[in-house]
Amino acid sequence: MYRQRLELTDRVAVVTGGSRGIGLAVVTALEEFGAIVVIADVLDEAGTAAAASFESGRVSYVHLDVTDAAEVERVFAEVAARRGSVDILVTSAGIANHQPSLELERETWDRVLAVNATGTFWCAREAARHMQERGGSIVAIGSMSGELANAPQRQAAYNASKGAVHLAVKSLAIEFAERGIRVNAVAPGYVGTELTKEGVPTDWWDDCWVRRTPMGRLGAPEEIGSLVAFLASDAASYMTGSVVLIDGGYSAW
Ligand code: NDP
Repeated sequence: MYRQRLELTDRVAVVTGGSRGIGLAVVTALEEFGAIVVIADVLDEAGTAAAASFESGRVSYVHLDVTDAAEVERVFAEVAARRGSVDILVTSAGIANHQPSLELERETWDRVLAVNATGTFWCAREAARHMQERGGSIVAIGSMSGELANAPQRQAAYNASKGAVHLAVKSLAIEFAERGIRVNAVAPGYVGTELTKEGVPTDWWDDCWVRRTPMGRLGAPEEIGSLVAFLASDAASYMTGSVVLIDGGYSAW
């Protein structure tokens, strides 16, 4: 019975930002549990190649910029029409920014909030429109940075965007519960992906991030993928409105 509740056979899943990193690990986990997965990303070449690498033929790619509300609406309508439903949404599209706040330009603040917070909300709302009859599961990739201001990098815009994601998840969980739609967030600590490496001197990793993580290492994308697959499945049927930290103990200090 327990194993069966983890199955996602023929559930239709959309994974934003699924071309690489955590998103791609999520795609892999969902596919392995039997889901039909649509990668929705702006990284067309990587996304198309990633989709083609799954021999089952159950993974496809579609271009989607989550900041474009009209495109979000169109893509979810197309997926629902072509696949019959949208049962699972995972929002992994995200960008980081490391900059002291006194130097932060308005444009950068707006962009980070637009992709991470507004993009997540818009995709979640659109997915929910297609989940209303059959129910569904929405999992937002938030961050431990939505719960604490981690150091030493300066990333006020990023932290604010992830805090917004976490509270939006709780709000949507309450609003959508009566429609059978569960909404949760996963809040990873440091995971070894391109996003983590971008613009960050590697000695920060060793001196601060890894040393302050009780488990003494970065997380692997696959470790996030398995948690997301659990939350997406019926095994998590009584979970909604939760923000689940997965950070090797970083936030336990
Ligand atoms: P990656 O940069 O590897 O993957 C993010 C993907 O999202 C990329 O393919 C990226 O494309 C895509 N993307 C960016 N902007 C948009 C957009 N407007 N519309 C659609 N897709 C877009 O990052 P990670 O896998 O590391 O991160 C995934 C999520 O996990 C993010 O939300 C991140 O904030 C969160 N997270 C990551 C942590 C980490 O340590 N790595 C820790 C905590 C949370 P492009 O390359 O063109 O930008």
